[in-house]
Amino acid sequence: NFISSVVLANETGVRFKDIGALEDVKMTLNELVTLPMRRPELFSRGNLLQPCKGILLFGPPGTGKTLLAKALAAEAGANFISVTGSILTSKWFGDAEKLTKALFSFASRLAPVIIFVDEVDSLLGARGGSHEHEATRRMRNEFMAAWDGLRSKENQRILVLGATNRPFDLDDAVIRRLPRRIYVDLPDAKNRTKILKIFLAEECIESCFKFDELSKETEGYSGSDLKNLCIAAAYRPIQELLNEEKREGEIKIAPSLRPLNLNDFLEAK
Ligand code: ATP
Repeated sequence: NFISSVVLANETGVRFKDIGALEDVKMTLNELVTLPMRRPELFSRGNLLQPCKGILLFGPPGTGKTLLAKALAAEAGANFISVTGSILTSKWFGDAEKLTKALFSFASRLAPVIIFVDEVDSLLGARGGSHEHEATRRMRNEFMAAWDGLRSKENQRILVLGATNRPFDLDDAVIRRLPRRIYVDLPDAKNRTKILKIFLAEECIESCFKFDELSKETEGYSGSDLKNLCIAAAYRPIQELLNEEKREGEIKIAPSLRPLNLNDFLEAK
């Protein structure tokens, strides 16, 4: 209910190359995180170069924030702990403060580590005024205090990476602790083509498939929307075959599915 997953370095199964577009975002994350995590000795002299302890990824839903966080862990050779705000609405609610303490002590043993807080606005959102539950307030304070405790040199390889679609709901105190804020935008036409090429890399598609055409037809789609569209389109040749088998009253022994064409995608929209 609190820690939703723990993934060891190199087991996140996704790398930056699997993420289409977002080149600037990947480059910034590499500079801010990968180098200090992989080469901490370069940052151990003096106080000028302090590794970043908090980064916020914000932007519309489905643009790949969670995917970026996981891939970043792999790039940086860091373990990955993902936490969610659902604890605040669960029966473990009263234990949230204790669990927060445990989270940071666990993280310090797992360093280098990225603590990913998805929907950071729900866990650490603006304080709810007088009706806010005391346990929520204590949990937030504990989270901030433990986070502040990361400033020492030996804790330099722990990063809190928050993601949100609602950055304006974040408390000022949280915003201050997330000094680097990176906008993860919806893809434009060129970037939609890049993302579609990744999703369709292993699929059987017509040799003259017009990626640019599909990209033009998917204005406003997020990476997640594009993936759902590809899944729906990929199902169409299967559905056709099933219909054919039904008409003919027999199951084909070695069925061959036709390649996907642009129309499959337009019909699946
Ligand atoms: P939310 O804000 O709704 O939590 P998110 O920004 O965290 O969304 P993800 O959960 O990372 O988005 O994306 C959902 C799915 O969409 C991913 O698992 C991936 O399959 C796909 N996806 C999104 N953006 C990209 C991209 N740029 N390249 C490849 N896949 C993408």
